[in-house]
Amino acid sequence: MAELPEAPTPTLKAIYADYEARQGDGFRDHLGASIIGKSCARALWYDFRWITPARHSGRLLRLFETGQLEEDRLVRNLRATGATVLEVDPETGRQFRVEAHGGHFGGSLDGVALGLLEAPKAWHVLEFKTHSVKSFNELTAKGVVLAKPQHAAQMQIYMHLTGITRALYVAVCKDTDALHVERIEADRAMAERLLEKAGRIIFAQHPPPRISEDPAWFECRFCDHHATCHEGGGAAVTCRSCLHATPVEGGWHCARHDRMLAPSEQRAACGRHLFIPGLIPGEVIDAGDDLVTYRMADGSTWTNDARSPEAAPC
Ligand code: SF4
Ligand code: SF4
Repeated sequence: MAELPEAPTPTLKAIYADYEARQGDGFRDHLGASIIGKSCARALWYDFRWITPARHSGRLLRLFETGQLEEDRLVRNLRATGATVLEVDPETGRQFRVEAHGGHFGGSLDGVALGLLEAPKAWHVLEFKTHSVKSFNELTAKGVVLAKPQHAAQMQIYMHLTGITRALYVAVCKDTDALHVERIEADRAMAERLLEKAGRIIFAQHPPPRISEDPAWFECRFCDHHATCHEGGGAAVTCRSCLHATPVEGGWHCARHDRMLAPSEQRAACGRHLFIPGLIPGEVIDAGDDLVTYRMADGSTWTNDARSPEAAPC
């Protein structure tokens, strides 16, 4: 008879619970350069509009932390080759950061380096990643552009927005600790296409087309937004899913209350919240002050009604 797996001990449960308790609300204020290479524009729009909060298990969160802890060691490894590595911007004392589209798009560099043995005179953007053995083998066989286009896209954005024309990608295999080191060159046309893509997503008032209409499509099966996208499930109620909110230079504006919204207010929303129609699986048949009525796929009607007395402006 097969042995039963051991139940998690209270200590193990407590360790994972600690990670889960510290994971925040799962909403990121800006659209990250690290994800702009995602193939589905709709998934990116859902990310930016906080449609589904990202929730991860304690085990996975600890795995993410492993990737962060690895960064210090990789910096030491590069310095041991004689390279100069800056992990923080000397002017700010913080990570090098890039931004575009009024601050709605951006990311933070792992560092920059000079004096690399391959090209000692050129500054390089540094990008560090950890990989499973399967992913690492594919990376070493194909190179980062083909094996990890999302990582390549991230580096292109960082190079473009810093003006640095080279990047060094350093990957670690989590199973064997083997390293893969690869340089890539700036591709201006690609970076501009990616920036344009980010702008289209950020300033779209409605969800972009799906990458597939088939809910069983492989990218959809693993997508956090599957329920909202294919099943008409409930989007999170925040200002980002409200038809009155628009991203503008430096923040978000509410047309209903005619004012800018702080990040904490965006998370809380107010009683006048009305879903962006593209988030509702129905057709708009009527709209008035603080309400929108839909004909749903089954022929019924549903009214998104924000006229209740407790719907006080925030
Ligand atoms: S479920 Fe599929 S189509 Fe919908 S956002 Fe996710 S990847 Fe895109
Ligand atoms: S403050 Fe209220 S009305 Fe304005 S965007 Fe947020 S939820 Fe919508």
